[in-house]
Amino acid sequence: RMPEPVARPGRSRLLVLAGPTAVGKGTVSAKIREDNPDILVSVSATTRPARPGEIDGVHYYFVDDAEFDRMLAEDELLEHAVVHNKYRYGTPRGPIEKALAEGRTVLLEIDLQGARQVRAADPRASLVFLLPPSWDELVSRLVGRGTEDEEERARRLRTARVELAAQSEFDFHIVNEDVATAAQQVVDLAHASGR
Ligand code: 5GP
Repeated sequence: RMPEPVARPGRSRLLVLAGPTAVGKGTVSAKIREDNPDILVSVSATTRPARPGEIDGVHYYFVDDAEFDRMLAEDELLEHAVVHNKYRYGTPRGPIEKALAEGRTVLLEIDLQGARQVRAADPRASLVFLLPPSWDELVSRLVGRGTEDEEERARRLRTARVELAAQSEFDFHIVNEDVATAAQQVVDLAHASGR
């Protein structure tokens, strides 16, 4: 299903971008952030250690378990989940509520469990699913980026199968053949929302 180019009055300005591991969600959302300062691309908190090159406060807020527990206890997270049966990830609520109140569009790059929680919290949120051109392409992107060992890759591919099976829960589906095109398709959806 291709994005609809028309305004969709029934939608809020909250967009969720989900999709399987290594499909390029991070690259697409980085491109959107770079080209569209009007859109707030949310920065998540996570208990995962930073990868080389990742910057605290830019790619994630890297926190320990105690700090994540504190954020939960203080109800600071809009949604949260354990991803790939391992680390915890969550979306800080404050910056999102502020941006939405200012009439800005907000994009969350989160997993399937998080997407479901956002849908429950705001039925008018737009759920966008990013697809790989093929399963083989997904596997080769994951191997190619070389950031996970074999056990971690296997774990992520198991999650990917579960996520792909749930794609019908999403409102829009974008195939990530090319980052610039996929990013523009998400932005077009964003601009059609909340009018
Ligand atoms: P990575 O560790 O590769 O950066 O991310 C692993 C997975 O966690 C990705 O599927 C990503 O979308 C998801 N993720 C990142 N931030 C959040 C978040 O705040 N909430 C949820 N539910 N998932 C997240």
